[in-house]
Amino acid sequence: MLIQNATLADGRTRDVRITGDRITAVSESLDDSTDDHVVDATGKRLLPGMIDVHVHFRQPGFGHKETWETGTKSAAAGGVTTVVDQPNTEPPTVDGEAFDEKFSYAESAHVDFGINGGVTKSWQPAELFDRPLFALGEVFLADSTGEMGIDTSLFADALDRASEAGVTVTVHAEDETLFDDTVRDRNDADAWSAYRTASAEVAAVERACELATERDVRIHIAHTSTPGGIDTAAASGMTCEVSPHHLFLSREDLDELGTHGVMNPPLRDETLREEVYERVADGTVDMIATDHAPHTAAEKDVGVWDAPSGVPGVETVLPMLLAEAETGGFTYERVRDLTANNPADVFDLPDRGTVAEGNYADLVLVDPAELTEIRAENLHTKCTWTPFEGREGLFPDWTMLRGEIVYNRSARESFGTPRGKNVRVFGN
Ligand SMILES: [Zn+2]
Repeated sequence: MLIQNATLADGRTRDVRITGDRITAVSESLDDSTDDHVVDATGKRLLPGMIDVHVHFRQPGFGHKETWETGTKSAAAGGVTTVVDQPNTEPPTVDGEAFDEKFSYAESAHVDFGINGGVTKSWQPAELFDRPLFALGEVFLADSTGEMGIDTSLFADALDRASEAGVTVTVHAEDETLFDDTVRDRNDADAWSAYRTASAEVAAVERACELATERDVRIHIAHTSTPGGIDTAAASGMTCEVSPHHLFLSREDLDELGTHGVMNPPLRDETLREEVYERVADGTVDMIATDHAPHTAAEKDVGVWDAPSGVPGVETVLPMLLAEAETGGFTYERVRDLTANNPADVFDLPDRGTVAEGNYADLVLVDPAELTEIRAENLHTKCTWTPFEGREGLFPDWTMLRGEIVYNRSARESFGTPRGKNVRVFGN
């Protein structure tokens, strides 16, 4: 297959040849006489597929919220070609048996994937490190099931063992001892943001980075939502991600979102959101990851203290970032780095993340003229709602995984047969 006249993220116009699962040539002009299939991409952008290192696809245990099939279809339709699933399923991914069970569900994946292992008091590191694990995490300062606080012995133990095994640790940094109990009598959706304070995040990032630095290991901070958290990670030489909801939404949106806007860490003040946005735009933040965490609308439509935390985002993230590139908030190059280049570097996926000869042909083609409004009814997640309803996105014409189109917006059958593989098993 030959893609002609595509505009790459850096603005160069190139022909790109795909042979089998790889990009085999990138050049100003390639002879098309021997190609079976030629695509005219004049005026369109060709980008590497997104690597989203933080999703919750809910199986096993919570298939009514999302399944590997619906989650990865949602990913493919949004231009995401690799996802990394987190361990808080049922059973949690803390031992070999649970890993193998999740791996069997992932056979229905339409995009490539990694599986993170979790840390609890009963975790089995030897069994986990024996499996093709992507990373550990999101590990809380105490464990992977949401128990936080200042008992850091388990966390420190996880750092040591992961370091020995050569596995990165992804950290959910909030210190619940610094939450503000004085707001527990409020019942509005904003009470969640008032309760889970910004300082609880900053203190936990500081503590996690200290413990990692003492041990000379590298950690990755998940979904930083505060400028202080981002700056602390960067100053410590650690990496961090920002979620689309912390980039595009703030407490000001909670009037409209209600308890659908409850997530961890919570939405922050608009001034903090602006400072987070600046750090994403200037490259202080390493990557965008969605923390795609779907719940049904019925589960979310309850009181603020009962609503489960999390919002969907895997299908809308790249379209929203590309819309931002088109309207001038970021450059296309920054979007490429945040969504593909940097995650491939940080998590050691050497044949992915750029449109370059020799890499896997994980590609997204978008038409910059096709800004469209995000509508939940057009999305593929099982949870049927989005916190980004009505915002603008540039959705892919098609998404290619290792040389084959896995999503084609204009085709009657949009998706092919599931062919996602564990990125730690082959090729890397
Ligand atoms: Zn998460």
